[in-house]
This record gives sequence, structure tokens and C-alpha cells, in this order.
Amino acid sequence: MQTATDLRNLLARIDRKGYPAYKDTKGAYQFPDYVLSIDHVQGDPFAAPSKVSIHVRGSAAAFPPSLYRTPVQRIALQDALTRRFARQAEAVSFRAKGSGHSGQISVSRCGQEVLERTACCLDPTHGDLCLRLEVGFPAQGRTIQARELEKILFDFLPQCIHATLFYRNLDSKQLQAVADLAEDQQYIRDALPQMGLCAFVANGSILPRASGVSARSMKNGVAFQSPPELAVTLDLPHRGQITGMGIPTGITLIVGGGYHGKSTLLEALELGVYNHITGDGREYVITEDTAMKIRAEDGRSIRRTDISQWISNLPNGKDTTAFSTEDASGSTSQAANVVESMEAGASLLLIDEDTSATNFMVRDALMQRVIHRDMEPITPFIDRIQALYRDQGISTILVAGSSGAYFHVADRIIQMDRYLPRDITVRAKQEALAFPPDGTAPKSTGLPNLDRRPKASPEFRRGDRWKLKALGRDGVSIQRETIDLRYVEQLTDSEQTAALGYCVLYAQRHLLDGKKTLRQVVDELDRLIQQRTLAGLCEGQSGIPFLARPRRQEIFACFNRYRGLNL
Ligand code: ADP
Ligand code: MG
Repeated sequence: MQTATDLRNLLARIDRKGYPAYKDTKGAYQFPDYVLSIDHVQGDPFAAPSKVSIHVRGSAAAFPPSLYRTPVQRIALQDALTRRFARQAEAVSFRAKGSGHSGQISVSRCGQEVLERTACCLDPTHGDLCLRLEVGFPAQGRTIQARELEKILFDFLPQCIHATLFYRNLDSKQLQAVADLAEDQQYIRDALPQMGLCAFVANGSILPRASGVSARSMKNGVAFQSPPELAVTLDLPHRGQITGMGIPTGITLIVGGGYHGKSTLLEALELGVYNHITGDGREYVITEDTAMKIRAEDGRSIRRTDISQWISNLPNGKDTTAFSTEDASGSTSQAANVVESMEAGASLLLIDEDTSATNFMVRDALMQRVIHRDMEPITPFIDRIQALYRDQGISTILVAGSSGAYFHVADRIIQMDRYLPRDITVRAKQEALAFPPDGTAPKSTGLPNLDRRPKASPEFRRGDRWKLKALGRDGVSIQRETIDLRYVEQLTDSEQTAALGYCVLYAQRHLLDGKKTLRQVVDELDRLIQQRTLAGLCEGQSGIPFLARPRRQEIFACFNRYRGLNL
């Protein structure tokens, strides 16, 4: 391997040459206590910055294995190191000068959730660390400023690396707290099924966010307090006893006046499938991890999905056992979202009346009298909500502000009252007696026909050129086909969206064969990520992109919205 001195000499040779001479720097260099690898060199100072990775041996990094004994602890540690490196990098970014991205030093921007990312990986066997970053190689116009790059690689970066990747330079108490929190969060997650719960919200949690554009916790938000009827206490391995609201499996209705905090609670539950960082306010809001938010999504595409349990006898005679459309209505899109969640193995559905199609949720008695059942293709959700739980074990947490129809079918009713939950099950059920159910006919619910076996599209044959463009959090474009993920609400990070793009690409090139079902394809992707980390998705790439791990559920959601899927 070349040495740091070789790199210094090389930089001296290419100083003031044309930008392409930077390509010669590609390679790995042994520094005193780590290896610096230049994996991809940008084409010009305005192009996406170059990709650099840092590799530290476990013996040198010396993080105690107690910090990464379990996978969740390891992910939390990687996350903490990424955040720390990001803060260090911010202080020196753009200190080296030049045009365009010259001097930029950056890593992933982590949000409130703790996610597994390509940015930082710790190998659990030996404790070896790999940190990936982007560096804008400096130039004046297109003339190489090698002295500036020297400052970055021999001065700024070593500072950041030493402050982040060597245990002796870190606050050990703080890191232990990170690992302990992760273990406590996992303990709650594992305890949910044994306690017959689908979610837990600790007393003292702060659920509201600072603003519509900031995911940080609201200052002076009203702290959550469980109603006594639903209070449960757990004994966490590190924090000890913690009490909060346990939501049992089954059907839970959340009601209350407008602006009393219903949607805020539901949104916290949606993201409770992830662990949150210290100080977030939702550290101990933990939801059953297959939970899926279900909403209407007008305009989405649906590919051969069996929605016949919800919608049948369409006036145009269209088959709904393998329903396809390029432009779904509110009710068909919501029906597809339910069916696809079942395919993805969800055992909890989260629904907010505000983002639902009314005709999918309920039909009142008067409407049923005027428009006879035979003339209505839609079986509303209320007719099957009980069977979903009884026959398939799928629970629902439903926010309803305006319709009382669900009082009859709910197992428990929580009222949000000035941001605090109250259990009003007994009183609400009493009141409901005076309002007979809307003559709905509860139905049993079988599994939809999930036998979809996509084929690869011809343009992805091995060796062909392909194009993938991440469009932030909201979507990804593959061979100019945009997959719109705006309404996949539990997707929380643009790097997850990018990873979904790579999942589709990988599947197109290796997995889709017309024989494997979509479920088998997603299982294989999940296994691949498990065994080879996210980097395993990016074959043939020079420099691994910044990716964050999506759940299985979102991988399904992405394939289901992919108009280029050959079915
Ligand atoms: P609803 O769905 O019941 O109409 P929201 O959940 O949208 O109400 O909340 C309304 C407003 O109240 C939002 O601006 C939200 O940020 C704020 N809010 C929600 N929960 C709290 C809380 N615990 N403390 C303070 N403000 C809150
Ligand atoms: Mg609301």
C-alpha cells in the first residue's frame, strides 16, 4: 500500500495542473493510525464531491465491545460517531478555498431517528471502523489547488478523525448512555408482544415537534401522561422502571376536538418504529415495528393488486382481483395500501381520518338507504376492521375527529383532551347505545391473492448503462421513471429513499425473474442488506453513496409505486 508520504509527493506533482490530474490520487494510503482511501474522484469542482473513506483497525479504534454487543447498540454507536464526525467536519468545511464544492467536507446529515447508514460501519467481529465522507477537491476554476487539498487531508481531516474514531478521545460516559438507551428501546420493542401491546408511549414524552419544518422537539410542549386505565410499567435493563400508556392490540380509536393533539400522537406512533436520539422527546415511544401508516393517495399507480375484498363489481366490469391503474382514486389507493401492508406483513395499521378517503372509511345509514348495497362497489373499512384483527391478527389505531361510526367496533377509545389522553371507552360505548350501528355487516377477511411475480425490464440487462437519481426524501428516478414516495409517510430520511432506488436497481439486475414473488424479492434484498450491509446493494460503484436502511415495509411500498415494474 502507498503511504501518506507518497500522497504528499503526488499532490506536489499535480499542483496547478488541469483538474483531471486529480484522478491519479485514487487509491489507499497508509497514515500512521488509519488508512485513507480515495474511492472516487469528482470530474470537476462543480460536480458532486469526491468520495473518501477512512479505515481504522479495531485494535487502534479500541471501542469496548460492550458498546456494540447487540446490533441495535452497534447501530446506535455508528450513528453517534457519524453525528460527532459531522460536527467536527462542519467546523473545517470550506476552510480550504476554491471554486464550486472546493473545500467541502461532509458526511450524512442525521435527523432525529437512529438509522443504519453507509456513512459509518463498525465490523462487530474485530471492531474495525469505516467512515465514509465527501470532500470537494479544491481548484481555482479548473486548475488544481493541491496545497489546499493537502491542508484537508493532512490537517483538517486528521483532527476530525482523531476526535471521532478513537475511543480514547471520546466521552466514555456519553457513549455508554447511547448504547444503554438503544438496549432499553429494544427491550420495550421486544416486550410489546409479550404484554399484548402494539405500542408504548412513556409518561413525560414530548410528542409535538418544533414546527412543520423542524423535527426537533417542541419547547414547552405538554408532557405525555398515560390515563390510569392504560398505564403499564416496564423494568428496563438500564433506566429501571418506566411507566406509560400501553396500547393493547385490537382496535383503538383516538378521538377529541380539533387541535387537541390527535394527529401529533399518531405521528409519534408512526415514527415509533424507529429509535430516537437522546433529547428527542420520543425516546420511549415505541411502536410494533411492522406498523404501517395507511392513507389515501390519489394518483398513485397500482400494479395487479388484489383489492377485491374492498372493491368489487366496478361499473366498467374491471377485474379487481388484479387491479391496475396509473391514476388511483382516493378509495382504491387506500384499499391498495391496506392490501399491500398485509403483503408486507404489517400487524398494525395507523390511520388518520384527515388523510383518508371518506367513502373507504364509512357509509352512513341514510346513504345506505338511498344507494343500495348492490350499487356500491366499496366495502368500507369499518365492515372489516374487526375481522382484520380476529382473522389476521392485524390491529388498527385510528384517529377520528368527526365520525362516531367506529365507536361500535372499537375495543378502546382514547380522547385527546388539551394534549392529554383520557380513556373514555365506557362512557363512549354507553353513548353509542343510543345510536345503533349504521346497518353495516361485519365481514370475515381472508388473505388477498399475493401472487405477483415481476420480471426484469430489458433495459437493465447486466452491463447496460443505468441511471439513478435521488430526489431527496420524496422519490427516486430510475431510467427516467420517477417513483413518487411522498406519501409513504414512515420514510424518514432522504438516504433511505436513495437506498430504495438501489434496491429497485439491484432487483432489476439480479432478482426479478418472473418466478420469484414480490415478497421473495423483498426477502432477498433484506437478507442481502443484513449480510453485506447497505454497501452490498451498490455493486460496481466507485465510492459507496450515502444510504440509510429502509424497513422491509418501505421496500415493498417502493416496488408497489414503481410504474416500471414489469408485471
Ligand atoms: P388534531 O389532530 O387533534 O387536530 P394536532 O395533533 O394537529 O391536533 O395538534 C394541533 C397543534 O397542537 C399542533 O400545532 C401541535 O404541534 C400542537 N400540539 C400537539 N401536541 C402538543 C403538546 N403535547 N403540547 C403542546 N402542543 C401540542
Ligand atoms: Mg389532525
